[in-house]
Amino acid sequence: MNCKNIMDLHVHTDNSFDGHHPAMFMCETAVSMGLRAVAFTDHCEVDAYYTDSFDRSVRQSYLENAKARSAFMGQLLVLQGIELAQPHYDKELAEKIVSSYQYDIVIGSVHNLRDRRDFYYMESFNPDEIDSLVNEYLDELIGLAEWGGFDTLAHLTYPFRYFYARSGITVDINEYKEKVDTILSLLVEKEKALEINTGGLRQPLNKLSPEFETIKRFKDMGGKFITIGSDAHYAEHLASGFAEAKEAALAAGFKSETFFQSRSPFEIPIE
Ligand SMILES: [Zn+2]
Ligand SMILES: [Zn+2]
Repeated sequence: MNCKNIMDLHVHTDNSFDGHHPAMFMCETAVSMGLRAVAFTDHCEVDAYYTDSFDRSVRQSYLENAKARSAFMGQLLVLQGIELAQPHYDKELAEKIVSSYQYDIVIGSVHNLRDRRDFYYMESFNPDEIDSLVNEYLDELIGLAEWGGFDTLAHLTYPFRYFYARSGITVDINEYKEKVDTILSLLVEKEKALEINTGGLRQPLNKLSPEFETIKRFKDMGGKFITIGSDAHYAEHLASGFAEAKEAALAAGFKSETFFQSRSPFEIPIE
C-alpha cells in the first residue's frame, strides 16, 4: 500500500479517556509510517460534557493537537478534529462546543442510547433485546443526521461489534434497510461524508463499519464523500485496515476519499 496518500481521519490521543498515546508520539509514528495526514478526533460525549469533564479534556486535546500540528509542519498534515458523540441529545451545547474551537473536521457518532451506557460497557446482550436496540440506535442516527452539524458520520454499525464480542450475536443490516436508507439519504441531502471505520477489523467481529453493502448503497443513492478512519487508540493502530477500506470504497464506485480542512471537503484519489 502506498502510504503517501494515507489520511487517517479518526484518531484518539491520550486526551481521550480510552486513548493511550500523546499526540506528539502519534505524529512521530505517523511520520515513520509515511502517512500524509492524521486528524486527532478525541472523544466528546455531549450528554456527559460537564459530568465527565469533557469540557476540560476537549480543551486540553485542542491545545496539545495545535502544538503537534506546528511541531510536525511540513512533515505531516495534522488536522484538528473532535468526535462529537450524541450531539443531538443537547444541540445547543453541541453547537457551542463546535463554535468554541477552529476544527478541521467534526465526526458525528452515537455510543449510547439516551440515559443508557455506552454499548462498549455492556457486559452481555439478550437476543430478544437486539431488535429493539438496533431500531433505537438507528433512530438516534437519524436524529444525528437530521441535526447534521458534523462532517462525517462515524462507525454506522457501532453496537454490532459489541453484540458479537459480548454475546456472539450477529445482525443482518438488510433487516433495517428502511432506517439505514433514511440515514444515508440525509447524508446525501446535507452533503455529509460517510466514514469507513476500520476499528471493527480489530474486534472479534472483524468487519468494516459499515460493511461494503452500505458503502455501495450510499454511493448508489448519490453519496459524494467518504472518509477513512482507523479509530486508533494506540499509535500502532494508525491506518490499520486501510487497504481493505480503500478496496471496499473503490469496489463501491468511489474514486476519491475526502479529508476536511477548516470544515471544507477536499478530495484525493484513492490509491
Ligand atoms: Zn466512536
Ligand atoms: Zn473514535
